[in-house]
Amino acid sequence: MNTDRSYAESRDSADPLARFRDEFFISDDNLVYLNGNSLGRLPRRTSSALAEFVTFEWGTRLSSGWESWVEVAERTGEVIASSLVGARAGEVIVSDSTSVNLYKLASAALDARPGRSVIVTDTDNFPSDRYVLEGLAAARGLGVRWLEPDPIEGPSEQDLSTTLADDVALVSLSHVNYRNGSIADMAAITRLAHSHGALMLWDLCHSVGVVPIDLSGCEVDLAVGCTYKYLNAGPGAPAFLYVREELQEELAQPIWGWFGQTDQFEFGPRYEPAKGIARFLVGTPPLIALAGVEEGVALAADAGIKEIRVKSTVLTEYAIALFDEWLASFGVGLGSPRESSARGSHVALLHDDAAHLCEALIKQKVIPDFRPPNIIRFGASPLYTRFTDIWDGMDRLRAALSALPS
Ligand SMILES: *Cc1c(COP(=O)(O)O)cnc(C)c1O
Repeated sequence: MNTDRSYAESRDSADPLARFRDEFFISDDNLVYLNGNSLGRLPRRTSSALAEFVTFEWGTRLSSGWESWVEVAERTGEVIASSLVGARAGEVIVSDSTSVNLYKLASAALDARPGRSVIVTDTDNFPSDRYVLEGLAAARGLGVRWLEPDPIEGPSEQDLSTTLADDVALVSLSHVNYRNGSIADMAAITRLAHSHGALMLWDLCHSVGVVPIDLSGCEVDLAVGCTYKYLNAGPGAPAFLYVREELQEELAQPIWGWFGQTDQFEFGPRYEPAKGIARFLVGTPPLIALAGVEEGVALAADAGIKEIRVKSTVLTEYAIALFDEWLASFGVGLGSPRESSARGSHVALLHDDAAHLCEALIKQKVIPDFRPPNIIRFGASPLYTRFTDIWDGMDRLRAALSALPS
């Protein structure tokens, strides 16, 4: 293994996605930003799209703009469906936040399985997901049955098989775990949930835009995902939701808003859910933020999810190779799966002084992410993360470890 920085430079020169870095606004080329899995960078085209929307669309068209604005949520959903998550047209729409979408879809799923009293999720799932599911269970007098996944490999088909029974209405898991970066086996787990008559809801926040997803092929019922991580749509940009076409008619959205109404501009006396995916909308979409989603999604679609995945894999493999060479001897542990096919686009490094090490890195212009109690996350966002960023981040972590009082 060549650990020279010049090797990282040569990999950057040979990188077929290198030109995409120029698509981003980068205020300081020396800042090593390894937190794109938490908040993606700003695409240049988004700055101009936002300015254009505000000035020309809002500024000059005023309320007449709604003629075309009402279509943006569905139009953007189509691009996510066809280029990133393997869904059919009419199965994905952009709306609300991931947490709210999770609530809407989980609630609809529970209504569709009356008589069943259990929601299955895992103890290491993202906090908002756990809270939303627990809240739904509490409100309905249902129970949550918790999987206890391996802390590095994430939830497995095996874990699920021991918790599934015919009382389970819904299984809800993250596709890529936010802490360890493990990828769950979507096809096998979905099949298993279905064999017990449960509906399956996947959270794609940490996989969309960086791991190829095949919702149709895996016959997934429901999914949610956010756009401000690997899709670079901007802080607080609206999320998306997916509902398998065959289920749309049957599922009832719990929030009866006017954007989910059949004929919204009739202002009719009663709520009648729209046909198709639009019934999962609630209220007026945030058009300014949607412009950021449209640009971020287009950028990922341009680069191609297969190419993005290839670069993501080699970047995290490189980080792990440097970890083996430099960090293992300092007592740092690898907190992510070593097998590339089982790992998303970030690498978790384990150390008791993780909080302090992250502070030291930030002082050295490396932005990682700290997840209590002992995880340092290094995220690779393939459209702009360079091999030299990985090298610099690992090198400065090595220096911070050397400087720890022994
Ligand atoms: C980031 C993330 C969320 C965020 O939900 P918001 O409603 O956008 O705050 C939810 N779930 C997972 C798995 C995430 O990684």
